[in-house]
Amino acid sequence: MPARPTETPAMFEVDLDPVALEPYEQLLGPARMAKLRAGVGRLAGRTIWNINSTAAGGGVAELLSSLIPLARALGVDVRWLVVDGDPAFFALTKRLCSTIYGSAGDGGPLGPDERAHYRRVTDDNAAQLQMWVDPGDVVVVHDPQPAGLIRRARELGATVIWRSHIGSDQPNSHTEAGWAFLRPFVMEADATVFLTEGHAQHWTPDTHVIPPSIDPCAPKNMALTARQAVDILGVAGVLGGSASAEITVPAPLGPAITVRHAATVLRVGPPPPPDVPMVVQVSRWDRLKDMDGVLEAFMQAGAGHCHLTLAGPAVDSVADDPEAAGAYELSRSRWAALAPDDRRRVQLLCLPVTDRRENALVVNALQRHATVVVQKSLAEGFGLTAAEAMWKARPIVASAVGGLREQVVDGVTGLAVADPRDLPATAAAVRRLLDDPGFAQKLGAGARQLVVDRFLPDRHLLEWAATLEKILTKGSHDAQTG
Ligand code: UDP
Repeated sequence: MPARPTETPAMFEVDLDPVALEPYEQLLGPARMAKLRAGVGRLAGRTIWNINSTAAGGGVAELLSSLIPLARALGVDVRWLVVDGDPAFFALTKRLCSTIYGSAGDGGPLGPDERAHYRRVTDDNAAQLQMWVDPGDVVVVHDPQPAGLIRRARELGATVIWRSHIGSDQPNSHTEAGWAFLRPFVMEADATVFLTEGHAQHWTPDTHVIPPSIDPCAPKNMALTARQAVDILGVAGVLGGSASAEITVPAPLGPAITVRHAATVLRVGPPPPPDVPMVVQVSRWDRLKDMDGVLEAFMQAGAGHCHLTLAGPAVDSVADDPEAAGAYELSRSRWAALAPDDRRRVQLLCLPVTDRRENALVVNALQRHATVVVQKSLAEGFGLTAAEAMWKARPIVASAVGGLREQVVDGVTGLAVADPRDLPATAAAVRRLLDDPGFAQKLGAGARQLVVDRFLPDRHLLEWAATLEKILTKGSHDAQTG
């Protein structure tokens, strides 16, 4: 449970216990596990802090909540701090993130007033850092929200890395404005780490690239039978045919998980029966995830016998994302404008997040049950939702942006749509997978293999260990020669 100090804004630490290693041993096998222990073990004795802006919701929180317990189980002292801020701070950092994705966001300014406010909030958080950070520690600062803490962490004697989870493939006036705002803060870091080569900037200090990973043992990705997936979705109110009020499923990590909360569902009529083919996109409610575009493309695909499910977290649940309600509203009004027969084939889900493991299990079931998974982002950092679906051997249609390009190799691990705004191409790709189950299954198998080879936590932690060693060696060399 998060421990809150009394100061305001109150930065807090998320306490995570080490996980049991046996489920990972079983999945990865002894050779991969031995390599992992040896590589990560070299960091033993070092304290590594992660700082981000939310303990739940979105890809960064997802990553930290699985990697930290695993690293701790491997003997490395990895910890997690979350910065606090007022609504104006999160509105401006959301705008900042949008610009770095190449979009205008809410269209508001990033001028001197915003910079002053950003400094004020991050300085208030930075003033609390000394409670946690000691000389010789490593501090990994994730994304723009806490970048204002980099200087203070260095003053405290830490080696500081700025970890970016966002970016754009094409610079434009928005990305320029966003990077101009952020540059003075990021420049203070000892090193920077990006998700994908194309997102790094020419000026970022000591630049490295590490793609992320998914946790195969976590509730989000653990094995489920088709029957369990259907039953979970029945209890959640997403599929018909379930009479139960709850279902309990054993989990490889931690206690069994009970699903008992229904999603808030926007739909006409009863839930679709389990045997109806279903196209699914799971994302935060964010315009850049283009849920509306998925809806349009699904309609253009014209597969009258299929249903579409658009699912995201409850709109007020992600602390650093103030635009979710607006993005959901856009999709809701687009849905409301559909012809009555079309409206019956589309449901919008807001999944409760009060119990994170329950939420993750419902996402797992949705991805597993999907006939086709779509990730039609207009811009993307990496797009963990793609790797999650691919791990489940689902055929995927994704736009070729950001890290999705590294995951979805067209015709091998899924279907990639070159222009993310190309609705007919998205519609045709979805239709192709619905019409050709053999081809869809082949892509699903390719997808699963890619995740096994490239996007599991052992590869991720080993790359972090090797990168940290390089950064720390460079730091001590620079100190000696400088
Ligand atoms: N997610 C979730 N519940 C939801 C919607 C999304 O747990 O209702 C998770 C999703 O499974 C994924 C993460 O949020 O693990 C989103 O990460 P991604 O990299 O796809 O995008 P981001 O939200 O970081 O832009």
